[in-house]
Amino acid sequence: MKELKQTDPEVFRLIQEEARYQLESVRLIPSENYCSKAVLEANGSILTNKYSEGYPGRRYYEGQRYIDEIETLASQRACALFSAEHANVQPYSGSPANLAAYVALLKPGDTIMGLALPHGGHLTHGWDVSVTGTLWRPVRYMVDHESGRIDYNQVRDLAKRERPRVIVAGATAYPRELDFKAFGEIAREIDAYFLADIAHIAGLVVGGVHPSPFPHADVVTTTTHKTLRGPRGAMIMCRKTLADRLDRAVFPGLQGGPHNHTTAAIAVALKEAATPAFKDYARQVVANAQALAEALLERSYTLVSGGTDNHLVLVDLTNKQVTGKQAAKALDRAGIVCNYNTVPYDPRKPFNPSGIRLGSPAVTSRGMGTAEMKRIGAWIDDVISHADDEARLAKVAAEVRELCRGFPAPGILLEDVDG
Ligand SMILES: *Cc1c(COP(=O)(O)O)cnc(C)c1O
Repeated sequence: MKELKQTDPEVFRLIQEEARYQLESVRLIPSENYCSKAVLEANGSILTNKYSEGYPGRRYYEGQRYIDEIETLASQRACALFSAEHANVQPYSGSPANLAAYVALLKPGDTIMGLALPHGGHLTHGWDVSVTGTLWRPVRYMVDHESGRIDYNQVRDLAKRERPRVIVAGATAYPRELDFKAFGEIAREIDAYFLADIAHIAGLVVGGVHPSPFPHADVVTTTTHKTLRGPRGAMIMCRKTLADRLDRAVFPGLQGGPHNHTTAAIAVALKEAATPAFKDYARQVVANAQALAEALLERSYTLVSGGTDNHLVLVDLTNKQVTGKQAAKALDRAGIVCNYNTVPYDPRKPFNPSGIRLGSPAVTSRGMGTAEMKRIGAWIDDVISHADDEARLAKVAAEVRELCRGFPAPGILLEDVDG
């Protein structure tokens, strides 16, 4: 980044500091990851200079010969990898992708049924501070109080009573497998669309460690920057019969020109995700989350649903002496980055809830395995048990930095950071 250093030393320095932070901390935010240097190069390329409103072969601007090929490649790779009939790779991110799906499928005032936010759902599944909860009528299913899992009989009862036009399955804080087949059957019983939002788990789906939403879902939305390890972006996949409506909802319905640099980086990430190495990665993500869960269970932590099937662990700290926020802040001082999170039926407010959410995708991208997860679990307990002991936090931080030195982060070179 020689040019940047010259032109804007202020921004250059901040990026360097962030790179060092990403290198020297254990990053457990389940929606975050490290993408490869190849993805970063495509994402930082001259493709950002282009305007390409429209779709390959039918653009509103001339000069698209290479752009058309790039977008077609990304879209074909998505279809092959996810067994989808159609893939739109233009949505700017996960939230606009969901909005586009609703615009395509619903009339204003129609009903969206999704998992409640405090139970692991996403804002865009009809929560009231999101426009998806005001432009449409939201109804929400919840996880079972005892098991912490989705109760599909409850989902069916609610669906029959409320008659949503679309049922959304997907989550940001649900540690268990989603039964896409069951959701698909329920949707068909009431003649609703079934939208699977696999933003968090897309990498696990293509890695073969989580069941695919196809052929059960009518529409699948996903981000590309979480477990899929691509650039910040999103895709909408669907049956051929819905393709035109979805494409029109994205452009011209909601967006203007696509981010071609992102599209190219998505294509690269999809190529990487099609390799056997990525299958190993996905398997290790789950093994690592489970190792972390075990380490915490051994130390008498309460986990929502008792464990995990996927890449994340939701810890209920009610039986500990700290709130989620206190725990997350102490962990950050010790070099372990996570986020505070509500737990289902949380008596506390979302801004200072009872839980923390931990995920394995980023540390697994660095090559960490179950032995490292055991150490991280022990550190988490040490920090949470001594959240006010600054010397203790500093000691853990030093140990964390030492561990991180042994596991290079994809896309971040130590000499770049030191230079
Ligand atoms: C992350 C996420 C989104 C939103 O993606 P953004 O890119 O942050 O807009 C939507 N749905 C689910 C389930 C997510 O996890």
